[in-house]
Amino acid sequence: MDYVSTRGKAPHLGFTQAMMAGLARDGGLYVPAELPVWGADDIAALAGLPYEEVAFRVMRPFLGGTIGDDDFRALIAAAYAGFAHPARAPLVQLGPGHFLLELFHGPTLAFKDFAMQLIGRLFDHELGRQGRAATIVGATSGDTGSAAIEAFRGRTNASVFILYPEGRITEVQRRQMTTPVEANVHALALRGDFDACQARVKDMFNDFAFRDAVALAGVNSINWARVLAQVVYYFTAAVALGAPGRAVRFTVPTGNFGDIYAGAVARRMGLPIERLVVATNQNDILHRALSSGDYRAETVRPSISPSMDIQVASNFERALWDALGRDGAAVAALMDELKETGGFSIPENARGALAAVFASGRAAEDATRATIARIHGETGMLICPHTAVGVNVAEAQPPGAAPMITLATAHPAKFPDAVEAATGIHPALPPHMADLFDRPERVTPVPDDLVAIETLIRERTIA
Ligand SMILES: *Cc1c(COP(=O)(O)O)cnc(C)c1O
Repeated sequence: MDYVSTRGKAPHLGFTQAMMAGLARDGGLYVPAELPVWGADDIAALAGLPYEEVAFRVMRPFLGGTIGDDDFRALIAAAYAGFAHPARAPLVQLGPGHFLLELFHGPTLAFKDFAMQLIGRLFDHELGRQGRAATIVGATSGDTGSAAIEAFRGRTNASVFILYPEGRITEVQRRQMTTPVEANVHALALRGDFDACQARVKDMFNDFAFRDAVALAGVNSINWARVLAQVVYYFTAAVALGAPGRAVRFTVPTGNFGDIYAGAVARRMGLPIERLVVATNQNDILHRALSSGDYRAETVRPSISPSMDIQVASNFERALWDALGRDGAAVAALMDELKETGGFSIPENARGALAAVFASGRAAEDATRATIARIHGETGMLICPHTAVGVNVAEAQPPGAAPMITLATAHPAKFPDAVEAATGIHPALPPHMADLFDRPERVTPVPDDLVAIETLIRERTIA
């Protein structure tokens, strides 16, 4: 299977090449040139299968033969073996017609582990085959960084550098990045917000001399392989609730648009998803864009759901590409306008195409806190603030026959202060990280300066 850039001007690549490249050289994102479309029988045949088998069947067509079946099955098995729940992504019922898809049973307690645990192994497999090493860089609003460090720690053919906004992530998130002792992982505390971290990572990829010198590779949510790994749980959840015979809806707490875009891919493959609901916190560029047609960045206001404190949602470019009839030149023009003027209006035809798939809503801070408290009172469950944004927005959707599945994107213990403030209960860390607060930390502070960051990476990389 061929991968093309959303901006239409980069070379077509195969699956593993697109995965190693991360960002395309024209600044665009890689997308499959065609999607496999499944019939009802293919979907029905998934019922009752283990998560790993569904993962194999859903992802296999996207590999285009670049990884052998036996190898791929082994990589999938290893990726999810460390999850604390045998179903990997269990569904629990929250209320009539409303379910939570628990995506936080992986090693770093957020949904990012689903993709990162697999991508770490896919990279290792490919680098081993090529007999070389790579430098992985990423920006994180908290959860991607810990998941990436967990996935790559101790590997001999990759070093990992994660930029996080100093002081803007929770202590649990920070400690998950700063306490691994392996020499190939580096947590860099940047003086700036998440958008600055993301911008510096993009700058590194656009500095081709640096990119080639250190064999740069990216594992941010723009990486196609990450989107692909997230497509799988849309299938397991929908099938568990009766697909293909019954349609479902999903509400997805959204920041960079990666997780919900995976749902859009599942829908285009034929999974009966009636609606994908984008749930944002007060940093609501996506809700504003989808409801008014104006995509315009404002300044980030820190919230109690920090993994969604984002104003430029990189993966939205993929949805625009779909909605604009896969017109790379049109996408490139809008992205130039965004860079020059801080925004653009979504063309009318694309607005219609987006509205056919996505709905959206926003939860203010007090509504999020109230939702955490109410769900605890009604069900005894503790939910993380991101999940609470999703639940709040899901409940505001018009009632429908199709069950609603809200993605529970992180474990409450990752955001203990917000959960305790809302419920009076301090959520406990699971046993495997109970001593997280006793482990020594290792952090490198960096200024928001491309040259300084590149110099540091050149000195420390093993590639
Ligand atoms: C990353 C993250 C999100 C947002 O996911 P996107 O793919 O960036 O939209 C939501 N909740 C949690 C807990 C996260 O870690």
